[in-house]
Amino acid sequence: MANIQDFYQHVRQELDGIREAGLFKGERIITSPQGAVVRTRDGREVINLCANNYLGLSSHPQVIEAAHEALRTHGYGLSSVRFICGTQDIHKELEARIARFLGTEDTILYAAAFDANGGLFEPLLGEADAIISDELNHASIIDGIRLCKAKRFRYKHNDLADLEAQLQAAEAAGARFKLVFTDGVFSMDGTIAQLDKIRALCDRYGALLGIDECHASGFLGATGRGTHEHRGVFGKIDIITGTLGKALGGASGGFTTGKREVIELLRQRSRPYLFSNTVAPSIVGGSLAVLDILEGSTQLRDKLEANTAYFREAIQAAGFEIKPGTHPITPVMVYDAVKAQQLSARLLELGVYAVGFFYPVVPKGQARIRTQISAVHERHHLEQAVAAFTQAGRELGLIPA
Ligand SMILES: *Cc1c(COP(=O)(O)O)cnc(C)c1O
Repeated sequence: MANIQDFYQHVRQELDGIREAGLFKGERIITSPQGAVVRTRDGREVINLCANNYLGLSSHPQVIEAAHEALRTHGYGLSSVRFICGTQDIHKELEARIARFLGTEDTILYAAAFDANGGLFEPLLGEADAIISDELNHASIIDGIRLCKAKRFRYKHNDLADLEAQLQAAEAAGARFKLVFTDGVFSMDGTIAQLDKIRALCDRYGALLGIDECHASGFLGATGRGTHEHRGVFGKIDIITGTLGKALGGASGGFTTGKREVIELLRQRSRPYLFSNTVAPSIVGGSLAVLDILEGSTQLRDKLEANTAYFREAIQAAGFEIKPGTHPITPVMVYDAVKAQQLSARLLELGVYAVGFFYPVVPKGQARIRTQISAVHERHHLEQAVAAFTQAGRELGLIPA
C-alpha cells in the first residue's frame, strides 16, 4: 500500500516528466499594468504582443475610473452567490446591456467564461438530446459537454460537410433537440467560424446554434458585436457565451446570453452560477463603462482593424509566413518547436514579448509565435516589433538574410 510520502514522490515524478518532455509552462512575471508596453521583473520595458487586450481597455482611464466609482458606491465584494444576496442593481444593468450589445434578450453573469461554458449544457439538455461540437472547441466547452448527458457528436474543425454528416447522425440516433456549438473564433489560428453557413445547416436540420465569443465580442464585425455581426447573422444565434476577461476590459467574468427563458432556466439550474460567488462590483462597474465606450464609437475596433492589417502585411513583407486571415490573432509560423522557443527568447532580448506555441497546444510540426495585435499599439510599436522579428528571424535562419 502506498503512503502519503509516495503520493508527493509521485507528484514530483509527474512534474519531472512534464519538464523532460519540454512541456513545462513557466510564467514570466510582469510588474506593470497590461498595455502596449509592459515592464518585466528585471525592469525592462517590452512591447507586448501576447495579451487578449484587443481594444486596450484593460488599462483604459474611463474603465479604471468606473471601477473605482463602483467600488465606492457598491463595495468591494458581495460575499454571496447571486440568489441569496449577491445581486445588485448594477449586475442587472450589466446583464441587460450585454444582451442589447449582442442582440439577445437576457444575460446571466458568471465568475468566468470557463464557468459559463461549464454550466451551460447540463441544465438545458438531457439523454434524449444531441450536442454537435467542433473538434477544436475550447477546453471549457469540452468540459461543459462532458458534464451533460446528451449524446455527443464531433465534427471536423470548420468542416461543413462533416457538420452535416454529424447532424444526420444525430437525427438517425433519434435525438430530440440538437445543439451545434462552436467557438466564434478559434484562438490558435484566428479562424473565424462560418456562422452564416452553419446557421443555414442548423435551420435545415432543426438544430439550435450556440457560439463562444471570447475572441470576438467587442471588435469583430462593423460595430464590434462579434462573429455573428461579421458573418451577417446578428440576432440569429440561439446561445452566446463570452468573457469580460479579454477585449471587454480584461479583468474577469463571463456570461451566457440568449432567449429569456433559457437564461431563466440557467439561473435556476446552472451549478457554477448557483454555487459560486457573484462578480465583484468594481468589475461590473468597469464593464458598464466598456459598453459605453463601445456603443459610443467604433474608433477602437477600427484602429485594431487597421493595426492588424498593417502588421499582417509588414510581417509577411519581412519574409515570414503567417496563417492567412483578418483576425488580430496573427500566428507567425515557425513549424519547429525548438526554433519557436529560440525565436521567442531572442525577441524578448530585443524588446518584444511574444510567446511560442508548440505541441500539444497546436499539432506537431505546427509550432508558431502567436502574436495578438491591439488597438493600444501605435504604429511605432508595430514597426519596432517587425524589426525585431526580422533581426531574430535572420539570426536563426528562418528568413533570408
Ligand atoms: C479565454 C476563453 C475562455 C475562458 O474565458 P475566462 O473568462 O478567462 O474563463 C473560454 N472560451 C474561449 C474560446 C476562450 O478563448
